Amino acid sequence: MVYPGPQLPAGRSTDPNAVPLIIVEGFLGGFGEAIWGGFEAHLNGNKPSATKRRVMFADVGPVSSLHDRACELYFTIMGGRVDYGEQHASMNGHARFGRFHARGLYPEWSAEKPLHFLGHSMGGVTIVALQRMLKEGFFGRGQHPDMMLSVTTVCAPFRGSQLVYTLGERTDAAPSVRPLSVGSALAKFVHVLGYLSPLLPKSFDLHADARNLSFREASFSTFFRQLWRSEWAESKDATPYDVTFDAADQREARGEGITNERTYYRSYVACMTERSGPSGNTHVPSSAPLSSIPLQAFASTVGSFDFSVLQPSPSFLKFKPGQAHDRTSDSESLSASSMNDYELGDEYWANDGVVPLFSQWHPLDCSRTNCHHIPPPPSTDNAKEPTPTPINKIYNMPIPLQPGLWYVKTLNKSHHVSIMPFWWATQCQIEFWSELGGWLRQLDLSACETETV
Ligand SMILES: [Zn+2]
Ligand SMILES: [Zn+2]
Repeated sequence: MVYPGPQLPAGRSTDPNAVPLIIVEGFLGGFGEAIWGGFEAHLNGNKPSATKRRVMFADVGPVSSLHDRACELYFTIMGGRVDYGEQHASMNGHARFGRFHARGLYPEWSAEKPLHFLGHSMGGVTIVALQRMLKEGFFGRGQHPDMMLSVTTVCAPFRGSQLVYTLGERTDAAPSVRPLSVGSALAKFVHVLGYLSPLLPKSFDLHADARNLSFREASFSTFFRQLWRSEWAESKDATPYDVTFDAADQREARGEGITNERTYYRSYVACMTERSGPSGNTHVPSSAPLSSIPLQAFASTVGSFDFSVLQPSPSFLKFKPGQAHDRTSDSESLSASSMNDYELGDEYWANDGVVPLFSQWHPLDCSRTNCHHIPPPPSTDNAKEPTPTPINKIYNMPIPLQPGLWYVKTLNKSHHVSIMPFWWATQCQIEFWSELGGWLRQLDLSACETETV
């Protein structure tokens, strides 16, 4: 299957001096411009005469695991047959090779011809995973983390989310999934789609080429057995497990998320909750836009989750009381009963309806990475409610352009899909894309200056 790439409006050409932008969608994504809407005008400065920055949606599987997505992202850009790696494939029981991309989105991709990346939700985590693989030379020689000039993430669950346990992942035995849970139902749905995939339109494309799910490759009895208990969904090579705290700890132990000194990083963090009471740090949904209503039940469960039930215990529970950013030895682990209400900071319960704030910030704990958390704008009155954060107001502050460091910006009164993927034409979205466009143009200029020095 060949991904045709984005079509330019008639009469407009892409700017050859603008580094192209690759967009990586999240779990269950893959709809591209059909739902992302009219962001490009704002990205390009909203000037009719301006040349366009080339924008390309990556063709990755909507339900592929993080490792598989990172491989799919690489080959959708470079072209060629997706190679998941011999060792990974044999460990996880699927074919080594997947889809063939006859034409890559940007085959000339290299450290000398880098790209900008933007990822929403799991798309952000995918980009970081790919950068680690580039650093390790997973795809052979000639790769380098400098191939990513910038990384912008929005609501990315870098360090996991407790929502995955609410939806079905077992708290004591992940990657097993509880029967009669949302996760179990979703797994069955995926297998039905996979089985019927040769008959379905492209919008239902699972990219499961390496898994032999369709009726052309799998017998009905195999299909029925997978419906009963999915070997894919209940494996460590699946998105639900990738979002557990255990999987995130393992990724970080391998060095995933360590910043590259020549890449520019920014993350946008959404929050739709507030403290549930005067004592304790658990959260409840605050008054938020109508569009957040479907996420309010999720926000409540994420905001009140009891981390002490998790086995194995997440690494962040080993931090000192009141100092969530400082690591202590294992012997100083907190007692489970006292942990939830008082010892961890709000950021473990405050959330965007899907992901807690601490996980959206960046990979690794603040004490183990380079980060700058942009403070919220000063309150103009004594109102108790935090005011919505205007995006431009913050980044218009004189912030030095420094690579190898995460700039983290929290947007209050916003949720997991406020900024993307759905186009609502809100002020927040317009400001986001305008500001992103301005920032990318600045990076393009500084990259040119570095080249000419
Ligand atoms: Zn895999
Ligand atoms: Zn930080």
